[in-house]
Amino acid sequence: MNVNLQTPIDYLKGVGPNRADLLRKELNIHTYQDLLNLFPNRYIDRTRYYKINQIQQSNAEIQIIGVIKGFKEVAQKRGKRLVATFKDDTGTMELVWFRGHKWIRENLKLNIPYVIFGKTNWFNGKFNMPHPDIETTEEHKNGLSSGIQPIYPSTEKLSNKGISNRVVSKVVQQLFLESKGRFAETLSTELTTELQLLNKSEALLNIHFPKNQELLAKAQYRLKFEELFYIQLQLIIKNLIHKSKIKGFQFSKVGDYFNTFFKAHLPFELTNAQKRVLKEIRSDLGSSAQMNRLLQGDVGSGKTIVAFMSMLMALDNGFQACLMAPTEILSVQHYNGLLEWCNLLNVNIKILTGSSRTSSRKVIHELLESGELDIIVGTHALLEDKVKFKNLGLAIIDEQHRFGVAQRSKLWHKSPPQPSLREEAKASFIPPHILVMTATPIPRTLAMSVYGDLDISAIDELPPGRKSIKTVHRYDKNRLNVFKFIRDEITKGRQVYIVYPLIQESEKMDYKDLMDGYESIARDFPLPDYQISIVHGKMKPADKDYEMQRFIKGETQIMVATTVIEVGVNVPNASVMVIESAERFGLSQLHQLRGRVGRGAEQSYCILMTSHKLSNDSKTRLETMVRTNDGFEIAEVDLKLRGPGDIMGTQQSGVLNLRIADIVKDKAILQHARYYAKKVLKNDPSLTKDKHKVILDTYKAMSKFKNIWNYIS
Ligand code: ADP
Ligand code: MG
Repeated sequence: MNVNLQTPIDYLKGVGPNRADLLRKELNIHTYQDLLNLFPNRYIDRTRYYKINQIQQSNAEIQIIGVIKGFKEVAQKRGKRLVATFKDDTGTMELVWFRGHKWIRENLKLNIPYVIFGKTNWFNGKFNMPHPDIETTEEHKNGLSSGIQPIYPSTEKLSNKGISNRVVSKVVQQLFLESKGRFAETLSTELTTELQLLNKSEALLNIHFPKNQELLAKAQYRLKFEELFYIQLQLIIKNLIHKSKIKGFQFSKVGDYFNTFFKAHLPFELTNAQKRVLKEIRSDLGSSAQMNRLLQGDVGSGKTIVAFMSMLMALDNGFQACLMAPTEILSVQHYNGLLEWCNLLNVNIKILTGSSRTSSRKVIHELLESGELDIIVGTHALLEDKVKFKNLGLAIIDEQHRFGVAQRSKLWHKSPPQPSLREEAKASFIPPHILVMTATPIPRTLAMSVYGDLDISAIDELPPGRKSIKTVHRYDKNRLNVFKFIRDEITKGRQVYIVYPLIQESEKMDYKDLMDGYESIARDFPLPDYQISIVHGKMKPADKDYEMQRFIKGETQIMVATTVIEVGVNVPNASVMVIESAERFGLSQLHQLRGRVGRGAEQSYCILMTSHKLSNDSKTRLETMVRTNDGFEIAEVDLKLRGPGDIMGTQQSGVLNLRIADIVKDKAILQHARYYAKKVLKNDPSLTKDKHKVILDTYKAMSKFKNIWNYIS
């Protein structure tokens, strides 16, 4: 009989009520299972013994066998330090203690062999080891401290209360004793065989008490795979359930709107990526399940036309569509662009934003409810309760990262229950299809985990003929050259953005930077030869808009701005983007800003201005920007630099609570896990086959014991 792993931790020999309380409070360990899943953070390899003449660097953790030849006390600024001369057959070094001198002198003996372990230091021309772990070779042989030792997660409180790493290690050992090291398998034989994984018991033994490096690596692989496998399984099952349960409007035909536009009015040939994504959307809309799709595409990759043609599919089937953007400027821009196409097709389109007049608002509300209006474009204003549709079939959200999840779900309920089904309104509620578009690519692996329950499309190809933007890094002292370059570009008829950082904590200082910058630019680019626009967050919307419009119309040549222009502004004649204090921006923000240029036929430039003092991370960011224009590549670097914690959506997804796998480092394992999770479900969607019983049982148990698998939502 295996031990019951749900047994409360108090029952384990050596734990007791006080320790159990601490383990619960500090490490969230309630049961045997929790303890078993407390995986070490790192290991100390004590399989290897060094010789003193092999020590090469400071700060290495090593162990050495030797004898103490003598002690001396050395006076120092405050108090004394105790120094022992330690010798093996290759040389001598020093052991140093700053406290506990009495105990050391009474207990350590000269000329008998000791095993010492600790970090080495280079001081006064020789190596020393402060406060080493020290044991006689006899103690060492019989004790716990040989081999590869686990270092467990801990907290200050735990170590203060005497629950040291050694204690935790002993308790885990006790658990292995009581259970005889036998633990139920949690993956199918098919998987363990095909992937040559350690079985569960071997994996657990070697993660806690590795026999050697090779078995440790195998144990880690097996447990990481398992963790990621069950997360992927969960996400894929969620997605399948969503598709089978949440009914959507079936857009069964491709009709006149779409065909006419495609045959007669397409302004350019679609890229292969655009065609592929349209097919993916078409297939979603044609099925009877609700579409929930994320469309990733770098700035300028041409998401707008994909959005428009998807809306035409809705219109062709008698439905309305809406497009929501995060800012007024963006909404207006979308509206103006789409209006041209809509006029060609006799499609009714209108715009609704915070600054729409009350009278026109009323009209729009009525037209939407009567169904006369086909497409509405707008800001958050679309989310107001007053906005009701006759039959909203497709809702598109542009630049997702500016909207929260709550807003996405609000759109769900914009479509009224179908008239024929009104009685069972709730049960028969059909939400519109949802397409979320984002220009901030997140790496595919992360997307799989964060948005695993959404379907993902990517436009990973730019329209042909785009000149890639030339990016350079310049220091403040090169400013004169940069200004000369700007002047030359303006002489050629181009326009220029100069952007200052705006970071909330130091808003006042940022504002001052912006104004100082503006003044110095105004001095170097004086009226009447040069006209400058300025846009920042403290301005009234009307003033902002006025300045924007002057720049869009080409009346001003330079736009000095804070990051308000980050998203979506389209001025094809602007060919230079200067980013001031570029070291203060994050990578994705730099990439977004750069995307404001390179929209016309001319060669465009991005100039990253910084001071001389740069952190390593800043250097990496700048080098990455100079090296590549590829948003997906930039997203990968960003993920490595920042970790997943700062990336939108990760908080909810639980990838941060992984026990052993690391979403960044274990990308390859994640891909494997997803592949096999899909394969298993494809072969046996409800996991009813005998060979999958173990997977089903494990999956169910995980959902039941939330404290163990709390990362599964
Ligand atoms: P984003 O994905 O950033 O929203 P847009 O949809 O605004 O990009 O497209 C950027 C520019 O590229 C627009 O001027 C658009 O007309 C143009 N464009 C889009 N697709 C193509 C294409 N297949 N061929 C040529 N130009 C295109
Ligand atoms: Mg866009």
